[in-house]
Amino acid sequence: QGCLYLVPTPIGNLDDMSMRAIQTLKEVDLIAAEDTRNTQKLLNHFAIHTKQISFHEHNTQQRLPELLQKLQAGYNLAQVSDAGMPSISDPGQELVAACVQKQIPVVPLPGPNAALTALIASGLVPQPFYFYGFLPRKSKLRQKALQQLSQLTETFILYESPFRVKKTVALLSEYLGSTRQIVLARELTKVHEAFLRGTLAQVQEYFANNEPRGEYVLIVAGASDSVTISQPADVQLLELVKQQVA
Ligand code: SAM
Repeated sequence: QGCLYLVPTPIGNLDDMSMRAIQTLKEVDLIAAEDTRNTQKLLNHFAIHTKQISFHEHNTQQRLPELLQKLQAGYNLAQVSDAGMPSISDPGQELVAACVQKQIPVVPLPGPNAALTALIASGLVPQPFYFYGFLPRKSKLRQKALQQLSQLTETFILYESPFRVKKTVALLSEYLGSTRQIVLARELTKVHEAFLRGTLAQVQEYFANNEPRGEYVLIVAGASDSVTISQPADVQLLELVKQQVA
């Protein structure tokens, strides 16, 4: 029987693709990709000629039996998402669970992940930490999640789209209090990588004058975290970071 390889892909910088990731994608019989067109660009860049099959949240149930059948027939499969680690706020978990159940070997490769990359540069207490991912879109569920998160004593991590990040910071301020520390990691590994550090009130103020642009990870200090960030919680900090990098 075959094997399922979980292959992380870059979250912005193609140089973060590991040699093992490239080799694995070259050697497997088939790549199950969240978006085959997106992944094709990556494959072209690294001269990988392996065939793909689409596997995303809308066809998971349909595709599962087919993928399991291939694995059981001896084919090796790699699973990739659009960026970062499969299964982390991305498709993958159902396939892994099905493989575990059927005793099909699952081999995870380490690699790029936005949450951990943001966490290690946050300056906030890195462990224990709590990874939440995206807040629910439905307002009732979102409220419940925010209430639960407000009780957490651990540093916690949220993903958010650029279109909702401003609103999410406002909600966090409402539920957690405006003095809670937060670090926003923007466009990690990309040209416009920057960190915005401060209280929720300061970040809200920053967004009142600067529209969010790009992808963000939100690292929020836990309720018990008395550590203050040593850098100035300056709303101009994003600009400063950019200048340093340039
Ligand atoms: N599976 C991915 C991982 O391992 O990090 C996460 C996929 S999730 C659909 C996409 C979210 O991850 C974005 O909305 C953003 O919150 C975060 N993200 C992905 N790439 C990022 C980057 N380069 N900089 C900042 N955040 C990023």
